[in-house]
Amino acid sequence: MGYQSILNDIAKEIIPLLKEGKVADYIPALANVDKYQFAMTLTLFDGTQFSVGLSDTLFSIQSISKVFSFTLALQTYGIKLYERIGVEPSGNPFNSLVQLEYEHGKPRNPFINAGAINVSDALVNHYKNPSDAYKEIEAFIRMIADDKSITYDEIVASSEMTHGFRNLALANMMKSFNNLDNDVIEVVEVYFKQCSIEMNTKMLSRSMLFLANHGVDPISGQRYVTDSRAKRINAVMLTCGHYDASGDFAFNVGLPAKSGVGGGIVAIVPKIMSIAVFSPGLNAQGNSLVGTKALELFTDKTGLSIF
Ligand code: GLN
Repeated sequence: MGYQSILNDIAKEIIPLLKEGKVADYIPALANVDKYQFAMTLTLFDGTQFSVGLSDTLFSIQSISKVFSFTLALQTYGIKLYERIGVEPSGNPFNSLVQLEYEHGKPRNPFINAGAINVSDALVNHYKNPSDAYKEIEAFIRMIADDKSITYDEIVASSEMTHGFRNLALANMMKSFNNLDNDVIEVVEVYFKQCSIEMNTKMLSRSMLFLANHGVDPISGQRYVTDSRAKRINAVMLTCGHYDASGDFAFNVGLPAKSGVGGGIVAIVPKIMSIAVFSPGLNAQGNSLVGTKALELFTDKTGLSIF
């Protein structure tokens, strides 16, 4: 069966589940998003795309942006970055404070909020100020997605800031352990801006192709990261990309992937493709409920998992 008919089948099979998820209403600007939306796009190495559903609809990429900022920070800091953040699964919710205190302000990994805020701080150090740090993240995403229109939604970013008590608490906790160099509010603002970046499934699946191809964009031929770094980013996606549901996701889907509370998930099929799914209803761990199911159906139907 061809990819288009597989996607069409998946789009039918997930319909009964659309009512089950819950949108991320802790971010007021995302509380009114229609949860009955679904899109899925896969991009092959020659650039061919197959899509089903609302694949032109832009949505808030949220924590998927953590893959981009982590990649950028690795490009600038190399392994020195691991002095500030670890690469172990946290087994805790993405915004949990408890473990961070036990572990003296060193976040477990770059994909929980504390880790991503820490990465923003490292980027603010490198690019000297918060607005340039954000601009570099955005420029990097535009480059790897080959799309200059990509930008953030100011309403979502300011909504996150006005209700960002937990993220500010995480940043303050790291600061109290001397693991955050810059102004707490400025760093968290960079983090919220990157989370508020809007993309659709076509852009997202295009942007992650380099991770399926040992760090080289198969379409442009451009190398973004070394082989070994691409391997490690994929490993962190597999083990930490879905927070305390990462084991569950590996068990059911079997691909390195990263989710965001906007309802997006991007998954890597090494050496073959990158897949993006969007459906805003979330499960209890804050990952797209239908998106996870759609990817599970995809790997079951195609046998394309890493296991
Ligand atoms: N901006 C969101 C937050 O900080 C990102 C969380 C997520 O996508 N898991 O809560």
